[in-house]
This record gives sequence, C-alpha cells and structure tokens, in this order.
Amino acid sequence: MNPIHVLHLEDSSLDAELITKRLQRDEPRLEMTRAVGHDDYRGALDSRRFDLILADYSLPGFDGLSALKMARELAPDTPFLFVSGVLGEEVAIETLKQGATDYVLKHRLDRLAPAVRRALTEARERVDRRKAESALHERERMHRLTLDSVKDYAILTIDPAGQIATASAGACNVLGYREGELIGRPTRILFTPEDDRAGIPRRELTRAGARGSGDDERWYVRKDGSHFWGSGLVTPLLDEGGQLRGYTKVVRDMSERKRTEEAFLEADRRKDEFLAMLAHELRNPLSAITNAARLSRQPGLPDDQAERARGVISNQVKHLSRLVDDLLDVSRITLRKVRLRPDRVDLATILARAVETTSAFFEERRHALGLDLGFDALMVEGDPTRLEQVFANLLTNAGKYTEPGGRVDLSAAREGDSLVIRVRDNGIGIGPEMLAKVFDLFAQVDRSLDRSQGGLGIGLTIARRLVEMHGGTIEVSSEGNARGSVFTVRLPAAKASAPSAEPPSPLPTRSERSIRPGCRILIVDDNQDSAGMLAELLKLSGFEVLKAHDGREAIAGARTLQPEIVLLDIGLPGMDGYQVAAHLRGEAGLKDLTIIAITGYGEEQAQRRSREAGFDFHLVKPVNYDDLLELLNSRTNPAAV
Ligand code: ADP
Repeated sequence: MNPIHVLHLEDSSLDAELITKRLQRDEPRLEMTRAVGHDDYRGALDSRRFDLILADYSLPGFDGLSALKMARELAPDTPFLFVSGVLGEEVAIETLKQGATDYVLKHRLDRLAPAVRRALTEARERVDRRKAESALHERERMHRLTLDSVKDYAILTIDPAGQIATASAGACNVLGYREGELIGRPTRILFTPEDDRAGIPRRELTRAGARGSGDDERWYVRKDGSHFWGSGLVTPLLDEGGQLRGYTKVVRDMSERKRTEEAFLEADRRKDEFLAMLAHELRNPLSAITNAARLSRQPGLPDDQAERARGVISNQVKHLSRLVDDLLDVSRITLRKVRLRPDRVDLATILARAVETTSAFFEERRHALGLDLGFDALMVEGDPTRLEQVFANLLTNAGKYTEPGGRVDLSAAREGDSLVIRVRDNGIGIGPEMLAKVFDLFAQVDRSLDRSQGGLGIGLTIARRLVEMHGGTIEVSSEGNARGSVFTVRLPAAKASAPSAEPPSPLPTRSERSIRPGCRILIVDDNQDSAGMLAELLKLSGFEVLKAHDGREAIAGARTLQPEIVLLDIGLPGMDGYQVAAHLRGEAGLKDLTIIAITGYGEEQAQRRSREAGFDFHLVKPVNYDDLLELLNSRTNPAAV
C-alpha cells in the first residue's frame, strides 16, 4: 500500500502530535511532514507532492489564508483542510470560497478522520475523472486529426433525419465548402438534381440501415455546382443498445481515375480503329499488285497493257513503302528517338523540294499550285530533310482533301522573328469539332471517305512533332466543311550570322539565290500543269523561265528568249520533240544551246533516238528536281562542278 503524504502546518507541537495520533489511528498509512511557519511550509510544497494539506488558521507571523493561497498556486489539486481553534462562521465560509476543501475545529477532532477520508476520496475521484476526460479529449483530438488528414475523402456523419452532423476537412476540400457550412444541411445538396428527384439520398441511407452498409459510384455536386465522379460508402451508426443514431458517409473523388479509364478506353478504341484501317490501307495496294501481277502473266498481253501493269505495281509498292515509312517514323517520333541534323538552310529551297516531291500528285489531281515566297530572306536553323517532310505532308494533305482541279497556295514570309509558312487549300475543309484533333495520332475526320489516297492518320502527328522539335508551332484553321483549310507553321528565323569584321554583304534576293543568276530556260511541255509546276520551281531557284506548249511555240520562244537551256518533252502534239530538237540545232543563233529531253520513255532505244536528234541529255519522268538542278548548274556554271 502506498503511503499517504500529508503536509501539516501547525505551530503547536502538542496539537500536531494530537492530530497525528488521531489520524494515524484511523489511517496508519499517513506520513506526516510538519511545517511550523512560512519558510518550511513553502520549502515543503516546493520539494514534493502531497496528497493532503492540513493547516492551522492562526499562526504567528503567517496566516492561514496566505497558506491556502500558496497551496492553491503550488499544489492546486491537493485537498486543503483547516484544522483550527475557533473559526468564526464568516471566516470559515471565506476559506471555502478561497478553495479550502473543508475545516475541522480542534475541539471537534472526532470529525477530522472522516473529513480527511472524504477529502482524499474526492481528490482521487477528481484526478481519475480528469484523467478520463483528458484521455477522451486526446482520443477525440486524434480522431479529428485522422479524419482531417484524409484530404481526398469526404467523411460525413449524418443524423437519422438525413442532415449532415459533422464534416471532415476532406469533406470541405472534396465538396468545395468552407468549414462549418455543411453542418445542418440535408445530404440532398450533394446529389445531382436527377438523383435527388429519384429519391437516391434517402434510399441510400435506408438501404445502408437495412443491410449494414451500402456503396456505389455516381456523380456528386460541389458547392459551385460542378460535378465530380465519386465513390461513396454509407454505414449506419448504432449505439450500444442497437438504436440507430445516424450514418457515416465517406465519398472519394474518383474523377481522375474515371478520366484515366476513359482515356484508356478511347486509346483502345482508337487502336482498334487504327488496326482496321491499317488492314484496309494495306489490302488496297496489295490487291492492286495481285491483279497487276496476274494480268502481266497473261500470255500474249499487248505491250501497253503490260507496261501499265508494271506501272501499277511500282506505284503501289511505292505507296506501301510510304505507309511503312510513316509507321516507323511515328513510332520513332513518339518514342522521341528522332534526332535532327540541323543546318542553316534557306526555307525557299526546302519548300521548292517539297513542291517537287508532290508535283506528280498535284498533276494527277489537276490542282493549281500558287506559290508566294516573297522577297524576304528565309533562313532557318533546321534539318532540311525533316522540314521538307513537314511541308510535303501538308501539301499532300491539301491535295488529298481537295476535289480534283482545286487550288492550293503555299506562301512563306518573315513576321518579326518568325518565318510563317501557310498551306491553304479550297478543299473539303475541317469541321470545328475536329479542328483541335487533326494533330492527334490516328485522328481522321471521315473514315468512310473514299480513301484511294488514304493515309493512316499519322502524317499531321509527325508534322507537329517535327515542327515542335524545331521550336516552332503548327496550327490549322478552317471555316468548316467545303470551305477549305489553312495550315500555318511558324518557325524561328535563324539569327543573323556572327558579325564579321567586314560589313555584311546584303542578303541575296530571290533571283540571286541560284548559283548562276539570270540563266534562261525554255520549258516545252504540252501538259500545262507539268510545265507550270516545273517553271515555278525553276523560278524559285533563280532561273529566268519561258514556257511553250507545242513545237511552234518552242521555236518562236527560243528565238526571242535566246535560252541557254531547253527542257523539251518528246510527246508533243503535231511536231514531236525529236523534230523540235533537230530544228533548234539548225538555228544559227542557238549554237551553245543545251537541249535536255524530259520524257516518259526511258528505254535504250528512246535514249539513242534522242541523242541522234541532237539532245544533250535524256531524263526520264518523274525527274528528281535536285538531279535536274545539279545538271542545270553544271551546264550553266561549269566552274561550280
Ligand atoms: P491522313 O493519313 O489521314 O491524311 P493526317 O494525320 O495527315 O492523316 O491527317 C489527319 C486528318 O486530318 C485527315 O484524315 C483529314 O481528315 C484531316 N486533314 C488533314 N489535312 C486536311 C486538309 N488540308 N483538309 C481537310 N482535312 C484535312
């Protein structure tokens, strides 16, 4: 048994002894510490904790009330009893007011033991109660902390009538309310009007009450009216007697997961569509090749048909290779494996090449191509092959998504620090809902379209990525279906080269861009588009160009222009290319003329014949523009070779 420590303030030894005896008779565990005046009383209080303080009221040099005050300050929980001689009633009441536990008069010491016992019991009870209270308090605090630290869950308690009784910090966070705002509101406010009308808020509670719990996923409404997809769990709160006291409801915002799930589903759907389309895109050329191959095996097939079959095979194989290239490209680009080989290049040259690449296709679809490259210097830091790919792609799309005989305009100009390139067509256009999507992988506006020129919906994805890799942007605008489209690419213009000691030479104007300014070329071709396209390209490269569409025009043109070079088609109406060449060779004023055949006929026999007719070179269509340029430059500027 623990001893009970008593501090006894008593100046009279006799009284002290008497009181001690009295008390120890009743409670032998008491251990008395005696103080006689202020100093040792204070010293005792400072030195340890006592279970009880007994004090005489009237002390020499120190008084009972001061002793009481000191005890209340230094040992507020310790019961304090006055054991005193006479104590007037008023004084007695005053001591109780000041916090004394009780008082016993010295002539009634029989009351002392019970009073002490009662004081000790009450003190113990008080301590126990306080401990229990603070434990409860602490538990509640932890509870709150736990609830409030869960920021992503709304945790609510709901009274049996369906009103919110408490709401965690997470509830305010998830539901968009301020602290306290939810209390007393019906849970209905968290549901959509449709769910509310359908009686879901009430049904959810009754069902949870009946089954022990209930969960589901549905749309919830935040304070600002916005919706989120939440998963909720409701559990009934029962007291010890099994009586329903209310419910707890936990709601978690699942919008993010739902979005991810939907994105996955969408990606999956797009992948399936893509595979279906890929199969379709591959089957078309394959079936054309199969038929052509079978046809070419027919015994006794006329030459022209056999030639056409071979043409089909080679075209379709080209088409297939392009699809495969695109596919490989897009996977390398999305995996960011593509490296640029940047150089300081003239955008005009890049655009000229892109035009050249697509010219056969434009011819086939009888599109007119307008070019406007202005007179600005169009220097970029970039990978010429990749940039050409971007613009060839935009031009091809413009040609593809425009009815035959349409018009496509390619322009480039400097705007501030940017070079702005526009490809505009007057084709089928793009509806507003698709505008934002055309750059997405596998995105295609209308898959039901006759896709004879079909692609895989990856060209623009590649184009955008490549432009971005060059620090540029690409955007599209269209006024809607059948109103044409404009694709705009912005690239940072190359900074002027590092300043040198010499004053910089003026930037070359467009006509100076070629190696040999002012060189004159005559193009003779009865196909106006074909002649026109080549003329544009050659002008871009700085040549002076004249076109002629038949033999007569050719001879007249040669006389007036006095060209250094004639690009001469062989299959001309009336006078054919051989005759025109022979004629030009006979002209006295055209001694140094270079005559180049550009023809669909590549056989040895055709080549020999053109040599005999006086041609210097024989090129087979489609002519690679770079090769042609090289040839032209070697003829007009021999020092450059
Ligand atoms: P595709 O291989 O289908 O041409 P792209 O990525 O190049 O793929 O283009 C994606 C889609 O954008 C096309 O399928 C087409 O619907 C639309 N589109 C692209 N360019 C044009 C354009 N100039 N006019 C109209 N629609 C276009």
